[in-house]
Amino acid sequence: MKIIKKYIVTIDLGGTKTNIGFFRNGKLVQNTKLLTQKYGPDNIDIISEILINSKKNISSICLSLTGLVTSKGLWNPINKKVLGNFKNYPVVKVLKKRFSIPVYALGDTQAAALGEMHYGNGKNLQNFFYLTVSTGIGGSIIYNQNLFDNKISDIGSIGHNVIKYNGKLCGCGKKGCLEAYSSGTALIKQNKIKKCYNTRDLLTKYKNNLQTKRIVNEATSMIAQSILNINLLLRINFFIIGGSVGLNPFFYNSIKNNLTKSIPPVKIQKAKLKSKAELYGCFIYIHKKLFLKKSNI
Ligand SMILES: [Zn+2]
Repeated sequence: MKIIKKYIVTIDLGGTKTNIGFFRNGKLVQNTKLLTQKYGPDNIDIISEILINSKKNISSICLSLTGLVTSKGLWNPINKKVLGNFKNYPVVKVLKKRFSIPVYALGDTQAAALGEMHYGNGKNLQNFFYLTVSTGIGGSIIYNQNLFDNKISDIGSIGHNVIKYNGKLCGCGKKGCLEAYSSGTALIKQNKIKKCYNTRDLLTKYKNNLQTKRIVNEATSMIAQSILNINLLLRINFFIIGGSVGLNPFFYNSIKNNLTKSIPPVKIQKAKLKSKAELYGCFIYIHKKLFLKKSNI
């Protein structure tokens, strides 16, 4: 890898948390974490300020964004309850203007899938599906060791596939989406334990509670069913599970248990890079774009 003195900045803007990664000489040397603001574009102003205050010499920026990103760098929320209501926010243009350096934007699952393909558990695989369960649910397809399509960021967005006809209302406006049943937001909505305020506590402190077991079993059965549906269409056979909820051992094992009898067998594995998959994916995207001059990633 070419020696670079400047910093490459990668930003993982999730539904709840934002993670800013500073890469130097191919290594992640600094990590700044903050809470995501309720209104999407506000985050871009806060991040800009952090980057300016860091006084670092930055060569390029790549964002991993929850929601939908077009090939022209326009950002839209899918679930307006998570990111607020805005349309076609020109995130790439705004940052390019502020910093006068190359700026790229990817969907969050696209970035995570790329990260796992280059540095994680997808390294030796030709094809796999990356599925993330966090505040929301998302997915991306790696086909022939490349993103299936890097122009449309919501290809593979399994969270908004309808799993129950006329079911619960989802934040995207449709009824019966997987996200309305199996996301972190959906789990905590169903919780009735008074002292339990967040998904992390629900899946750790209160995992042996009968209510938790019922909620998790229903949520993971639906995820398992969705995995089988994807496999029926793509015969991709390999799934990498990420996201703060997906990586929780209790939740992950429950998905796995719900898949044991599947035919043909489906293999699942946790994301090796855990919550940093998106940062590494953004890094490799910039590296390929700027230094290997690859137009299609
Ligand atoms: Zn939906």
